[in-house]
Amino acid sequence: MIQHKKFYIDGKWIDPLDGRGFDVIDPSTEEVSARISLGGKADTDRAVAAARAAFPHWAANPPTERLAAVQRIQNVYEKRAEEMAKAISLEMGAPIDWACGAQTVAGSGVINDFIKSFKTFEFLREAGPRSPRTRISFHPVGVAALITPWNWPMNQITLKVIPALLAGCSMVLKPSEIAPLSALLFAEIVEEAGLPAGVFNLVNGDGGGVGSQLSAHEDVDMVSFTGSTRAGIAISSAAAATLKKVCLELGGNGANLIFADAGEKTIHSGTRRVFNNSGQSCNSPARMLVERSIYKDAVEIARRVAEKTVVASAHEAGSHIGPVVSAAQFDKIQDLIETGIKEGARLVAGGPGRPADLKKGYFVRPTVFADVEPGMRVQSEEIFGPVITIMPFDSEEQAIKIANDTLYGLTNYIQTADEERRKRLAFALRSGMVETNTDPIGPDAFFGGVGFSGRARECGHWGIEEFLDAKAISGWPA
Ligand code: NAD
Repeated sequence: MIQHKKFYIDGKWIDPLDGRGFDVIDPSTEEVSARISLGGKADTDRAVAAARAAFPHWAANPPTERLAAVQRIQNVYEKRAEEMAKAISLEMGAPIDWACGAQTVAGSGVINDFIKSFKTFEFLREAGPRSPRTRISFHPVGVAALITPWNWPMNQITLKVIPALLAGCSMVLKPSEIAPLSALLFAEIVEEAGLPAGVFNLVNGDGGGVGSQLSAHEDVDMVSFTGSTRAGIAISSAAAATLKKVCLELGGNGANLIFADAGEKTIHSGTRRVFNNSGQSCNSPARMLVERSIYKDAVEIARRVAEKTVVASAHEAGSHIGPVVSAAQFDKIQDLIETGIKEGARLVAGGPGRPADLKKGYFVRPTVFADVEPGMRVQSEEIFGPVITIMPFDSEEQAIKIANDTLYGLTNYIQTADEERRKRLAFALRSGMVETNTDPIGPDAFFGGVGFSGRARECGHWGIEEFLDAKAISGWPA
């Protein structure tokens, strides 16, 4: 069993001052795979103090030196990619090929993209044509607390650590206690890259402990958080008394609007996308809305995709999906599947319980519900598992109304060959992102939502600006 009880604070691996043991569970076997420590207030204070002490020097470093540090992190990350894939697979149940080709690669993709964005990033800008002697300058916010979840661990850690470093912030990372192994390895990568002591610190802990201590801490200037809406609200409340900057990347409940002219492939890819990562992606297009003339065929295609989706251990090679992350997530998804049946949604594939050949592990059957109606819990709640719901629509107006009938607003999807309709709908959908015709959003845009999905803006120059305060200066010499 892996034992990893130390925290990375002030450039050293040190024993907790106030820690207690915590078991990391392998979701494929339900057995303990590692033992870590969850810190307490004394550990949080020590990490924040180290970040505070390191901040002035790091902030004053020229941007080229900060860029060079991130480039060193990128090199070490690439070198240790195989170890990273194994850690992610073990902690959160991503099948090893997916952990390597999607999860680990997502982290290096994020680092690469930030390096490119930073090369054209301007810390001093003209304010505009009516203000020739005014400039806008950008300055690091200060000490950042970075709180991350388990579902795309390296994607989410790099989306915060890298722009924070580039901006000139120092930081304390508190990764998910359910999936801490990749984060501990990431701290080793940062150490190997040779950053000044105290710029990057890692403390393991749970939400109620280190998470809320960081959120309320007087010496933390901002919190960047990805995770549940519940925790996002708790963090906002805890941060209110010190008026820190809070950036929230929360859950989603995306709608995928498929019109008859879009082609069958979009139904196939839309369904497969919901099952990827065992459904544990905040931008999952989990609510498929289909124009009525192709609805029957769409349900049939989704059924076939579900039945062809193999579920197996994360430790086996292949393109199957793995378990969901934890007993709590497994139970929550099972409850929602049973609720869907009770509420009268038509179960087309999958259903309650594990796949027949799997007796242990948090494995969920790829599940399709058709004839879902507004107000059913499977429609209104974020399921965060391999479960897709399908509903028919008769008009654009009806599709928009159903899609927007959610508190969340992260990503919506439109599939149609009609360009005018695509533009109309993209404007009408209430979300931070709209992906159309399976065309990915480009690297100059951001990842982020509105409403209960939070309003963080991650990726590209947007992601770097999250960690900066803007200052307006008058009387700039001509
Ligand atoms: P969570 O929000 O409880 O945990 C995410 C992170 O927040 C962890 O590091 C956790 O320790 C920390 N945290 C929890 N409560 C906190 C608090 N009060 N103050 C400070 N930090 C706190 O998420 P979860 O329980 O791991 O997953 C539950 C749900 O969250 C999922 O079903 C899904 O809906 C959502 N989720 C969304 C995303 C996303 O990318 N948007 C990612 C993971 C989970």
